Amino acid sequence: DQRSPGQPEFLQAVTEVIDSLWPFIEANPKYAEEGLLARLVEPERTIIFRVCWTDDQGRVQVNRGYRIQHSMALGPFKGGLRFHPSVNLSILKFLAFEQTLKNALTTLPMGGAKGGANFDPKGKSRGEVMRFCQAFATELFRHVGSDTDVPAGDIGVGGREVGFIAGMVKKLSNRSDCVFTGKGLSFGGSLIRPEATGYGTVYFAEEMLKLKGMSFDGLRVSVSGSGNVAQYAVEKATALGAKVVTVSDSNGTVIDEDGFTPEKLALLMEIKNEQYGRVSDYANRAGVRYEAGLSPWQVPVDVALPCATQNELDSDDAVLLVKHGVKCVAEGANMPCTLEAVKVFDAAKVLYAPGKASNAGGVATSGLEMSQNAMRLAWSRDEVDARLHRIMRDIHQACVQHGRRADGSISYVDGANIAGFVKVADAMHAQGVV
Ligand code: NDP
Repeated sequence: DQRSPGQPEFLQAVTEVIDSLWPFIEANPKYAEEGLLARLVEPERTIIFRVCWTDDQGRVQVNRGYRIQHSMALGPFKGGLRFHPSVNLSILKFLAFEQTLKNALTTLPMGGAKGGANFDPKGKSRGEVMRFCQAFATELFRHVGSDTDVPAGDIGVGGREVGFIAGMVKKLSNRSDCVFTGKGLSFGGSLIRPEATGYGTVYFAEEMLKLKGMSFDGLRVSVSGSGNVAQYAVEKATALGAKVVTVSDSNGTVIDEDGFTPEKLALLMEIKNEQYGRVSDYANRAGVRYEAGLSPWQVPVDVALPCATQNELDSDDAVLLVKHGVKCVAEGANMPCTLEAVKVFDAAKVLYAPGKASNAGGVATSGLEMSQNAMRLAWSRDEVDARLHRIMRDIHQACVQHGRRADGSISYVDGANIAGFVKVADAMHAQGVV
């Protein structure tokens, strides 16, 4: 607390992890030696910088940029960049900490990081977004590289922004190696990377349901958000026979009792990805219901996939979902459920997976992009998808192995935290106090 004043999201993430690790550490005290826990919760390096750029009216704008290089114990720092007005040190530190454990869970050689800026891309012209990205890159380029730090996208940073930043980083560094993942296919990106987080979340939930003898076929599913993760979660769940009845944004929710079809999803993608529109625009054009100010959690479903942002599902929402008979909650976003909401799911024996396990497919496929770049070749769509699917099954298995309770039920929170922690902690221990 004293080392991180005014950082509620970071303390929330650390509290969740330490609470669930504690019994394991008491049983295995070697993991508390040499200040290992104190070192694990302190980022290796935090960079904060000024970003100045000029808007279309010729006015100078100033934003704050960040890169949190949390841990290099397992490989180069690795994690996305977020552009959103809410971005601050607390949010990025929580994301970088979670990323370190998540990357360990993928079993690929990647450390943990996160970065971004309090820049709001909404309503900005292409020229403004490009100038901002280039200004951001003029500082970021000093800190990244294929063997030091490999950023990617996150909220507000999609293929377009990755392209603009990577372009400037290449120019300044005079190197073309793998500075970023989530790159466009035209300059070294991997097939399936855009789909990976959403698909991976659904693959993970499929494994959870299987343990209970269920499948997605015929289930009602709610998805929150309508960005990258949400779109591909809708696609995969629909392909597996589920009826996806919601998507949302920070203004409201679309409720479609008939469920998404591939045609409706194509329209949503066109409006979101090409016109940078809102879900209300989609509802108007698709002729479906839209409720301003409503969250998706009011709608009765079997499976809930929160894919928008942190703390978007609180204990009241959880109580309502349980009342409506929800069976499984898998996080596509990072920390979308509050600590209290998770307690409600636990008490009601609802299957619940934390993002660091269920949304790890995105960074896992980023790891596959790095491998392809290093080998200077590109795998087919089916090859990458098959590898992603296998990784998600393996992460699920690791959670089951480390998270089985005495009564036979699975705590995916404990499983993910312990499996990720052991990998990072063993590597930190082997490399001494640095
Ligand atoms: P996008 O920017 O593509 O989409 C974010 C979506 O969430 C938008 O629909 C946005 O709506 C919505 N949203 C943001 N804030 C709120 C809010 N306060 N209430 C309701 N909706 C909100 O981001 P991504 O899809 O890439 O990321 C979504 C989540 O998934 C994040 O938590 C991210 O960290 C996580 N994640 C992403 C990965 C990736 O590969 N992209 C990998 C692993 C995790 P609006 O337009 O109104 O802001």
